[in-house]
Amino acid sequence: MFFGGQPNKSDNTKFYTLLGVQQDADPATIKKAYRKLAMKWHPDKNPDNKEDAEKKFKEISDAYSILSDPEKRKVYDQYGEDAAKEGGGGGGMPNPNDIFENIFGMNFGGGEGGPRHNIRPLVEVVELTLEEFYTGKTVEVEVKKEKVFNKRGRVDPKGMTVCPDCGGKGKRQVLRQLGPGMVQQMQIACEKCQGSGHSLKPGFRLGTETQKLEVEVPPGSKHEHQIIMEGQGNYDSKSDSYGDLVIILQEKPHDVFKRRGHDLIVHQKVDIMEALTGFETVIKHLDGRELYLKVDEIIKPEMVRQIRYEGMPIPDNNIIKGHLFIAFELEFPTSLKTSQKTKIRELFGLADSKHDDLTPCILVDPEEDNQDSDPDPRMGGIPGGFPGGFPGGFPGGFPGGMPRGMPGGMPGEGPEGVQCAQQ
Ligand SMILES: [Zn+2]
Repeated sequence: MFFGGQPNKSDNTKFYTLLGVQQDADPATIKKAYRKLAMKWHPDKNPDNKEDAEKKFKEISDAYSILSDPEKRKVYDQYGEDAAKEGGGGGGMPNPNDIFENIFGMNFGGGEGGPRHNIRPLVEVVELTLEEFYTGKTVEVEVKKEKVFNKRGRVDPKGMTVCPDCGGKGKRQVLRQLGPGMVQQMQIACEKCQGSGHSLKPGFRLGTETQKLEVEVPPGSKHEHQIIMEGQGNYDSKSDSYGDLVIILQEKPHDVFKRRGHDLIVHQKVDIMEALTGFETVIKHLDGRELYLKVDEIIKPEMVRQIRYEGMPIPDNNIIKGHLFIAFELEFPTSLKTSQKTKIRELFGLADSKHDDLTPCILVDPEEDNQDSDPDPRMGGIPGGFPGGFPGGFPGGFPGGMPRGMPGGMPGEGPEGVQCAQQ
């Protein structure tokens, strides 16, 4: 029904209009237009008008799947949408999500994260701050690519042809006369194409072109996340096609926040007096918001508190974020004045010493004690040497090991050999 009469001219502009590109747009422009619109209309990004978004997303994907395929595009230009869709060898239109994932490389981590084919990909590393990972960003990447240029300096892959001498094999069979009636068949690299299998047509040359590409970094992307951009890599003469460009995202270390999965961790230093009497601070979040933190409970060493859903965004999930953990680090004064001590003791109703008649033991820091004749008390050398032992970090593997500067004078802490009065 579509091939009968005149080409239906009214039906072959819709896809271009949908993507907002000219009818003579090159593949890169079409891809870029699709990427922008797909990010905008992805159903996950439009939870409030999912139905409209799904419809629009499907339309964009259909348009892209036709216009990105040179054969289908030709059919579409001549005969319109229905002919182009039918010309795809049955099977109907591809799943919009498949197209999206292919372009954005979202389905990484499942073992299929690598580039699709054998052409060595062009790899670019992009460094981003944690703020940029949090909010998401469009990054402009400059890539140097190998390309075929024509006489006028324009890029034209058609300037590369299969080598006429070797037919694309890159090598030739030659016969060598060894003696009377004796020949040997040998394989040599093709001189014309130097083994590449392709040669440049007259007037064409191989060169590099710097291209600026826009890369969409979705909010919550991970450190080392790879964005694969199909066909944006170097020209490969063997397969006469373009390889992929792989953008690897690198996270710069942040002064305040650390990332663990989708969660964020802040190590918050707290003065011991504030830990006892009340602590407050304002933490500037990665998107600039200020989080007011007020703690009334007594902050204990290694204490962790969680602010729900203030962690990193989760890609493909608009609703839930990770959590924010506040890991408190108590700071003790190195010394107190006698007057301060007296006041504190008074405030807390602590009695004066009842043992003025005895000589106190000398307490040695075991880590600074060189005459270690005994095994480490923590290994069980002294029974009950450290009451309760050291807290072993945070549950679930928080950073932070042995706390330094524990309050002095723990009962029974003194290693053996200490000279002191016995009762
Ligand atoms: Zn050749």
